[in-house]
Amino acid sequence: MSEAVGEQSRFAPESTRPGVVMKFGGSALEDAEAIRHAIQIVNQRLRHKPVVVVSALADVTDQLLEAGRNAAKGQLPVAVQALDGLQKRHDEVLSESTAAQVSPALRAQVDADFQQLRQILQSVASAGELTPRLQDHLLGMGEVLASRIVHAAFVHAGLETAWVDARVSIITDAAHTHATPLWEETNRQLQATTLPLLQEGKVPLISGFIGATSDGIPTTLGRGGSDYTASIVGAALEAGRIEIWTDVDGILTTDPKLCSDARRVPTMSFEEAADLAFFGAKILHPAAIAPAMRKNVPVWVLNAHSPEGKGTEIVAHPPDECTIKAITAKSGVTVVDVEAVRWFAPELLREIFEVFERHQYGLDFLSASRGSLSLLVTSTDALPAIAEELKGLANVRWESQKALVCLVGEKVRRQPEIASQVFRALSDIDLRMICHGASERNISFLVDEGKTEDSVRRLHRLFFQSRFDRHSAVRVTQPMCQGSGTWQ
Ligand code: ADP
Ligand code: ASP
Ligand code: MG
Repeated sequence: MSEAVGEQSRFAPESTRPGVVMKFGGSALEDAEAIRHAIQIVNQRLRHKPVVVVSALADVTDQLLEAGRNAAKGQLPVAVQALDGLQKRHDEVLSESTAAQVSPALRAQVDADFQQLRQILQSVASAGELTPRLQDHLLGMGEVLASRIVHAAFVHAGLETAWVDARVSIITDAAHTHATPLWEETNRQLQATTLPLLQEGKVPLISGFIGATSDGIPTTLGRGGSDYTASIVGAALEAGRIEIWTDVDGILTTDPKLCSDARRVPTMSFEEAADLAFFGAKILHPAAIAPAMRKNVPVWVLNAHSPEGKGTEIVAHPPDECTIKAITAKSGVTVVDVEAVRWFAPELLREIFEVFERHQYGLDFLSASRGSLSLLVTSTDALPAIAEELKGLANVRWESQKALVCLVGEKVRRQPEIASQVFRALSDIDLRMICHGASERNISFLVDEGKTEDSVRRLHRLFFQSRFDRHSAVRVTQPMCQGSGTWQ
């Protein structure tokens, strides 16, 4: 791996600002071996004053969530058994990462964390529900545990590392399960907790995903939130760059789990990456780009399993003019049709939005015609109550198991032939809520969930592969993306 970060860093070497914020996702932290790789990667960046952000170990958040749901359903013994399994795994990774030289204090701390987890599950069982507040407390412990273990592994490897408590540094509102930082407090706290450590020559290590309200109640930034943490930290400390270390070669033309021949996108603009994340690409948390973009800190997405790779560079103005950068699909979407009984007076529209907001639905996607409004949501839980509240004013119907497919790329809108190519390629598939033109950078539409893979594969073939497929029936206007990817 090259040491090119310094050349690109906007800070002099003696600056206390970090040259790089490095985030390691669960997919790059499966076990002790993966942690060793992460240490090697950080080691290569040492002279650039890194700050390290870590997620929970792979799959831990899902397992904690399942345990919480089981406890809520009255199956506490099942939940506790899962926790025992998690404790064993964390103990093993800790021992393996430190050649069994675990300090009694750390061992006691990890035991205490698991004791706390058992108490949370007990509270969930007593309440008979996994409230958003309890969920945040439960899930966040995955990151607390991982950061303690990775910290111990770093120290064992001889890295001068300091553990920074994210619950003291990232101060958020109380929107449990999808909290937003209180920017001023967070920036101040992050600077206060990390800059002195950098000055002492230490590597601050902080858990991703979690924060706390100003009263100290644990919160989380939403699933996949460690990317967001990295960006929050990078922006607050005005880092030279932010690196998202994960299990794929960068941002790819689509999710490789949908399309095995997805290719690396060398460069993207902040806006393109933000759109891609917003439209459901798991590779980045939906809000992860905004803080970096505000401070113009470049973001790199890199593969921890092959660190010599070039990755994807996300900057304000990438050199690459390629039209379509990537295709994304978000499953589990429900389309809600709200039809006015009489007509859509402005007061009715206001009432509709207020009802949805009261039930905690963010209305990110909507389309309207004269007498009806279509909205996209990802949970149907409160829809019966909403339908009841709007009774007499509007009829509310919904259809679940939809997927939102989106093509992202600068200037997509300015090429109308792209839309016609999309519709021709998917002419036998029922498309709904087609949105073209609301943004310069994307075309999106809804398909039945069962058609997701097929739709994405056809579009991927159309826009990224036909050049190599002489039998393709579809004419291609899109050149293959050929970014420079010259950072290493
Ligand atoms: P981490 O644990 O490192 O945060 P995630 O599982 O959250 O990793 O994100 C990485 C995954 O994102 C990849 O394994 C891949 O399946 C998925 N993904 C979805 N869309 C894309 C895309 N356009 N490019 C690359 N990966 C994508
Ligand atoms: N561990 C958390 C999750 O699985 C946060 C993250 O991975 O970024 O959602
Ligand atoms: Mg992630």
